[in-house]
Amino acid sequence: MIQPSASHPVAVIGAGPVGLAALAHLIEHGLPAILLEAGPGIARSYEDFRHVRLFSPWRFNLDAAATRLLQGRGWQAPDGEGLPSAGEVIDDYLAPLAALPDMAARIRFRTRVAAISRRGTDRVKSAGRDDAPFVLHVRTDVGTGIIQASAVIDASGTWTQPNPLGADGLPAPGEAELAAHIRYGMPDILGADRHRYAGRSVLVVGGGHSAAGNLLTLAELARHAPTTRIAWAIRGTAPARALGGGAADGLPARGAIGAALRELLDAGRIRLVADFRISALDRDDGQITIHPEDPLTPSITAIDEIICATGARPDLTMLRELRTTFDPTLESSAALGPLIDPNVHSCGTVRPHGHRELAHPEPGLFIVGAKSYGRAPTFLMATGYEQVRSVVAALAGDLDAADAVRLILPETGVCSTDTDGDSGDNCCPPVALQAKAPERNTGAARCCEPSSTPTRACCR
Ligand SMILES: Cc1cc2nc3c(=O)[nH]c(=O)nc-3n(C[C@H](O)[C@H](O)[C@H](O)COP(=O)(O)OP(=O)(O)OC[C@H]3O[C@@H](n4cnc5c(N)ncnc54)[C@H](O)[C@@H]3O)c2cc1C
Repeated sequence: MIQPSASHPVAVIGAGPVGLAALAHLIEHGLPAILLEAGPGIARSYEDFRHVRLFSPWRFNLDAAATRLLQGRGWQAPDGEGLPSAGEVIDDYLAPLAALPDMAARIRFRTRVAAISRRGTDRVKSAGRDDAPFVLHVRTDVGTGIIQASAVIDASGTWTQPNPLGADGLPAPGEAELAAHIRYGMPDILGADRHRYAGRSVLVVGGGHSAAGNLLTLAELARHAPTTRIAWAIRGTAPARALGGGAADGLPARGAIGAALRELLDAGRIRLVADFRISALDRDDGQITIHPEDPLTPSITAIDEIICATGARPDLTMLRELRTTFDPTLESSAALGPLIDPNVHSCGTVRPHGHRELAHPEPGLFIVGAKSYGRAPTFLMATGYEQVRSVVAALAGDLDAADAVRLILPETGVCSTDTDGDSGDNCCPPVALQAKAPERNTGAARCCEPSSTPTRACCR
């Protein structure tokens, strides 16, 4: 790998919480760096759901290097126990961080990385490869440009690549045609999008926290607009993941989401349609019918609007000319896949990991942040902050610091090997291990010990 220099800085892709933290660490280490952001401002994912209240309190949401840079300029950290909205994370933390002169001078907005390669060599050619700088082809308002870099930290997230409605992972027939009635992610149900849902028949699809958040907000809307009807379709037989661990969740706000949802289901304010795998959609008499794969299952009829909250997937196209390895199930970093696979692992924690697990066969390339988790739904900012601390220490040549990875995450309190609730097998550590963790009193515990061997069976 070539050394970072003014002509070949470390290139960070994406000005989300993790990309900005990476830049803060690079500045602290004195490494030449540039951050390329596709949008017109920082944190486009958080901007998209700025109305959503996060479930992790401030103390989990701040990166250490970013905090040091900010405090050097007189910034006051918010109360660590406070629960910010995504918008408050932008306004009270990320925006002041990005505005620091050292940071602002290195960020380029409206600069979308379209593709990355090595100068003068394609994916196949090996000779001289490691000494060739990266070339990043970028699209800006004035056309296409090329930026050369010594290393690449890809923190471009997954939010803009939502999973489709089709149960097979492909857009269901009719999905594109009915796009005007489908929103992906977390629309602003009580704010800008209120008119779209008030008094309508709304179907939420998905079994995770985003679906749960949408359902709670729709129920709140229905209190003011009582003719609003809410249905919820999941593929599994029971909504274990969305209902969460309740009081056992290390993040009380995340546990409270599931508890409130359970109350709404019990009260009959939300109609749950379980074991429903969408195969097609069509429109009849102005309303949408959703057809299941199983012909014996009744279709869901008379729906006005659909909110698809089925997760997201990474966009790997920009990496096509680089040598990469991904987990075949999740498209996550290969070493992380066995630890975060939702097929077998639901406790929401992950073994501490850093530059070694996040590296690819292409020296100098690291994929971090939500993108490092691929399709797994349990990524937390705190994980990304430790990732970039380790990666930047490695780029700075401080391997002792890079290898000293520490990560204590709050558990979800849902620890079965089958999130649909069919199995009682436990993927979390024995109780004795959790009890020994000093952070247990704060609700934090480590699911997978640093020394554990990654297997599909999580901590076992
Ligand atoms: C609804 C929701 C609630 C969440 N709540 C919490 C919570 O309470 N606590 C918690 O810790 N985590 C939470 N998360 C998880 C995590 O914090 C987010 O997923 C976070 O956005 C991940 O940060 P990131 O920096 O990796 O990616 P992102 O925030 O997605 O940032 C990626 C950035 O890269 C830019 N970009 C994308 N492609 C390109 C390109 N080709 N070129 C240049 N720029 C590009 C995007 O515009 C964007 O600004 C939540 C996630 C969601 C979706």
